[in-house]
Amino acid sequence: MEINEFRINVSLIKRDSAARIAEIRLENSYVTPYVIDFTKENEFMKLDFGVVPDAASDIAPELYEALKARNKGIEVLTGLKAMPARRVVELITSIKKESAVKPIYAVAAATPSNLPILAYLGVDIFDNILAISRAYEGFYFTPWGELEVSSISNPPCQCEACREGLDVENVVRHNTAMLQNEAMLVRELIKREELRNYVEMKCKASPELTVMLRIADDQLKAYINAKYQKARFQRFRRSTAYFNTIESFSKPEVTYFFQRSAEVYSPKSKTVLLLPCSARKPYLTSKTHRTIRNAVGRLIRGVNEIIISSPLVVPRELELVYPAINYDTPVTGYWSEEEINFVAERLASILIKGEFETIIAHVEGGYSKAVEKALSIAGMDCIFTAEGNVLSSESLSRLRLELEKADKGAFDLYEEIFRHACLYQFGMEVGGRPRGRYPELELFDQRLRVARIDARYGCLEPDFMLAEKLLELDRYAVKIDDFDPKGTIFAPAVLEADSRIKPGDYVVFYNSTMIGVGRALMFGDEMVEATKGYAVEVRRKRRNREQ
Ligand SMILES: [Zn+2]
Repeated sequence: MEINEFRINVSLIKRDSAARIAEIRLENSYVTPYVIDFTKENEFMKLDFGVVPDAASDIAPELYEALKARNKGIEVLTGLKAMPARRVVELITSIKKESAVKPIYAVAAATPSNLPILAYLGVDIFDNILAISRAYEGFYFTPWGELEVSSISNPPCQCEACREGLDVENVVRHNTAMLQNEAMLVRELIKREELRNYVEMKCKASPELTVMLRIADDQLKAYINAKYQKARFQRFRRSTAYFNTIESFSKPEVTYFFQRSAEVYSPKSKTVLLLPCSARKPYLTSKTHRTIRNAVGRLIRGVNEIIISSPLVVPRELELVYPAINYDTPVTGYWSEEEINFVAERLASILIKGEFETIIAHVEGGYSKAVEKALSIAGMDCIFTAEGNVLSSESLSRLRLELEKADKGAFDLYEEIFRHACLYQFGMEVGGRPRGRYPELELFDQRLRVARIDARYGCLEPDFMLAEKLLELDRYAVKIDDFDPKGTIFAPAVLEADSRIKPGDYVVFYNSTMIGVGRALMFGDEMVEATKGYAVEVRRKRRNREQ
């Protein structure tokens, strides 16, 4: 029997955006990202590799259709190495658009440098064909790039093959081990939802990989702007977002944050105070923010606040939402032109959305430059209250003076935090009475809990009351078979799911007898399509009231 007649089984273990750890079953099972070793007999040899590479689809589309690889249940991509970065990204994302489940095998493409970004884009299976051919051509793989074997006097590696000497067979073994190490590291990072930070670092090793990441980000940005529901990214995650490279600014969750916060921002006063960010998150727990708030006391009540950072611009109401709640950015005091422009544009759109009449900026240095630029974009004026240090007594007394004069609204900050978080996450209003110690807040309606802040993921965790509303609106809902789910709901039990659902989202699951809240482990369309794997982690459930 040919392998392309086999039914290939895919069972998801863990997602990190488009990347995943999954168990793929042919005759044997393999955990992805997986590197096939072609120095040994293996069942992947039975796959159809086609007669023409996928790169030919542009040059000779008809010929390509006739001669391309045909395999059921797996996408085999050939000739990626010869394709421009844009085509590689487009090809992989077009496959992912159709199916989040179908595994992708990139033939003769992997090096230790590009394996992480290919896995990040959604490739599951790799091989050591380049590791072998490059060894025969005299090249030695390192995590950084290739070295000429002839130029190495002391191999920078402790593996068994390197200790035996650098003859060609040992270099094949070494190069293969390097690829396998990379695949294992990627697996660990997917578990920690941290692959993106690593990919940004790896891409610095070559302009071609940087181009690939930028194109992938541009494409996701277009999807996010168009509100394309199946865009393969995560809104909430538990890892810290690092902003160490310029590509960090275009992380999909950052793109989404800017778009979504501008959409939902609805401040309740005509006065806004602009403040600098703090190293500690959430900002409200930092020493700087506490000192400023203590210094102005009740004067801050009824005044909206926006926190400026590089690259985030965060209305106070959204500071518990990811990535605002969990990011780290290098602070030198110096702001590049690029940073100033990036932040200014986003600050301008938030200020316009807020329709503020009075803007007070309690900022200094690079922050002031970004504010000035934003004001000129928005055509607005502002009062600067800090001279030098924002915490000096002169600066703080000027701030008090301006806040005294300012027009104020009437709102409770914690209520606004819940209202904004719910608008951001579910597109609906929520009200109630907040309780708890910041940031571990809960929202109550009379004696019933509506939701709580999940500070680990930077989102709201709905309780039954909110879950029922979501179900009525058919948002983030997952219909499951009639059974009593325990810890995890597996994909075969899912009958319907909102295609907006991203891994990491809270969802409402239901059947004819019960309703519950859980965390999605897959994309919504993936839950419906997949025949195996973890779909939803159950958080709480109950029988329907009428029963
Ligand atoms: Zn070695």
